Amino acid sequence: MTPRFKANINYKEIIESLKFWHNDSVRRFENKFSEISEQKYVTSFAYGRTGLYALLQALEINDKEVICPSYTCIVVANAIVKSGNKPVFVSSNKKDFNMNWQKVRLAITSDTKAIISTNLFGHPVDQDEIIKIKNEHPDILIFQDCAHSFFAGKKDNTINKFGDASFYGMNISKIITTIFGGVVATDNENIHKKLISWKSKNSNRPKLYKTFLQFIYLVAAYFAFNKYVYPFVNYLERVGILSRLTDYYDENKIEMPRDFTDELSKIAARVGFIQLTKYKEIIKHRRIISSLYNEKLINEDKIYIPKCLDGSTYSHYVCTIDNADGFEKYMLKKGYQIGRIVNYNIVNIEIYRGYRLVGENIMKNWPKKIINLPNHNGVNTILATEIANNLIEFVEQGKNQ
Ligand SMILES: *Cc1c(COP(=O)(O)O)cnc(C)c1O
Repeated sequence: MTPRFKANINYKEIIESLKFWHNDSVRRFENKFSEISEQKYVTSFAYGRTGLYALLQALEINDKEVICPSYTCIVVANAIVKSGNKPVFVSSNKKDFNMNWQKVRLAITSDTKAIISTNLFGHPVDQDEIIKIKNEHPDILIFQDCAHSFFAGKKDNTINKFGDASFYGMNISKIITTIFGGVVATDNENIHKKLISWKSKNSNRPKLYKTFLQFIYLVAAYFAFNKYVYPFVNYLERVGILSRLTDYYDENKIEMPRDFTDELSKIAARVGFIQLTKYKEIIKHRRIISSLYNEKLINEDKIYIPKCLDGSTYSHYVCTIDNADGFEKYMLKKGYQIGRIVNYNIVNIEIYRGYRLVGENIMKNWPKKIINLPNHNGVNTILATEIANNLIEFVEQGKNQ
């Protein structure tokens, strides 16, 4: 069975996680992150969404409007609401699935204090758009959501450096992971000082049992992705046992996780450090597999492939087809799991009905149509060719209805 995602963890992460006598693991991880992101100041958190929440609170943004895409991870909107602010949703472009920056201009009011610039699926936002908006509205803060796009963009000028700060989610499904965790990076000393001060007032040391559970989870994850074990994991997932343990948000409530103000645990920081040393290799592989998919699928008129600017990190290789559900089932029978990531559009979710959407709701049907083809380290070029051929067969045999 080929899983839809696979964390790139091996024995090195497990060994490193056990070095409990290392006391400066969190600082060491933050320093490494600073080196690789080429940003001066890095602060770690328990979740990516905590980083955003902390930014808004630390900069005393309260009862204001924060612009973000409607087609993104819902936890971003939850963090905006929970920080005491109002999300203003903007429609996305079909071109690259990122927010439509023309519509961002229409969304700005005198109450707008921040814009979340999401680089969805690793596709970097056009950096000129950010420079233009910043010139037009120097008082509005721009935060890059890099949860899908660690250091995407131009080689010496990656997208995380455009704007006032960047934040990253690092849970098990992200390209590089601390298993549980998040990070904010910035070059702005003032923002950094405020974040540190917020953190010292609002965060707590993770409890020992939590650290222990994280270790168990790390080891379980390491084994779960083994090719003999994974079919069982897939079974647990299908019958709903696993989702009860792993669902990290509830669609019916706007809330933050109970432990969201915890500091990043030392175990998570140690795993993250090893991950950062492998970063280049991880991205290189994703780019190779994704270009293979691109080449094979580009001429299929029933498959829509978003255009990525150069420098995409391909956290997911996404495309849309009419019968995504059908393809998912078709592939599962053949032993491949197909992902359905971002399977909602926030303004269509009941609890967010009352919020403003600027632009047309062209994303309404995307969740039904989106698929993502595995491009992780468990997929080599032979397997990727097979997956692409299966997709072509599926649409050409008229099953795509
Ligand atoms: C994962 C993710 C985040 C943050 O995730 P946390 O679970 O809070 O660490 C933010 N934005 C996007 C687009 C994501 O996919």
